[in-house]
Amino acid sequence: MASDKKPGKKQEIKWGAVLWYIHLHFLGLYALWLTLTSAKWMTVFFTLFITMIGSLGVTAGAHRLWAHRSFEASTMLRTFLILAHTLAGVGSVYDWVLYHRLHHKFHGTDKDPYNHNKGFLYSHYVGNFQSPKVDYEEAKREVDMRDMDNDSLVWVQYKFYWLIFGVFGLLLPLNAPLEYWDESMANVVLITGILRFAITANVSWLVNSALLIWGDSGNNSKSSISVFAITKSNWPNYHYMVPWDWKTSEFGKYDEGCGTFFIKMWGEMGFAKKMRTTSAEDVGEFLHQVATKKTTLEEGLRHLEEMAVYNATKELLEIKK
Ligand SMILES: [Zn+2]
Repeated sequence: MASDKKPGKKQEIKWGAVLWYIHLHFLGLYALWLTLTSAKWMTVFFTLFITMIGSLGVTAGAHRLWAHRSFEASTMLRTFLILAHTLAGVGSVYDWVLYHRLHHKFHGTDKDPYNHNKGFLYSHYVGNFQSPKVDYEEAKREVDMRDMDNDSLVWVQYKFYWLIFGVFGLLLPLNAPLEYWDESMANVVLITGILRFAITANVSWLVNSALLIWGDSGNNSKSSISVFAITKSNWPNYHYMVPWDWKTSEFGKYDEGCGTFFIKMWGEMGFAKKMRTTSAEDVGEFLHQVATKKTTLEEGLRHLEEMAVYNATKELLEIKK
């Protein structure tokens, strides 16, 4: 197994991606102008709606459900989330999870695809436009992807990504404004197409670069980040320590935000189950154990996670009674 201390491979710029995203951002700005000046209200609402659904596919779906398994979802919810993720146009859930898990494993090191120590521009943009330091097959050896390999929905999206994206990401969303409220072709392509993808791409990248906006990027040694666990504040630091807590919002807040709201709602409707989180008492006990050297930070975190799984299962059994 490769060590995280060893430098990764030399990176090459993916010029095709660079050109695509430069166009996407500039045309997206022009689309913003069209949104304010010539688009029909229905087009604006519809685009906002499907942009939000796509973003939810990335945050609640790829991030909290698939990458960190912070809850379990019914087949119906998983189907909705995988289609929502396809709508975002950011590649397959499988690849998103692979590189996000790699990002967590090598966090802040040379092999982290979105290394925050190289600054916001690298973490948010450049890391996405370069060939990774860890190649695809090596990445699959470095992180445990067995759950993803055994997920049939993830497999279908991965195998037929371009077909599913063509239908759910392009054809259906672009056809609706043309067909039902007679929007102009230019507005549809630029607003419902380009602007939507520019926003969802940034939402997807922000999950990996959020530390530099909302976190304490300068000093996240193990001893200092444990402080954040007490109050669950300073989100990104807490997330990198307790990534399986379903309540942790992607963008700066704990127990708030769009993704958290929807997961809570799905939980109440019975679509989301075994939702893993921690209580202030458990975190306090864990920190006490670490401080009195009764356990190491790693062991304590593992124990905290086991407790969260136990509590989530117990809750589920109590509901079933
Ligand atoms: Zn994460």
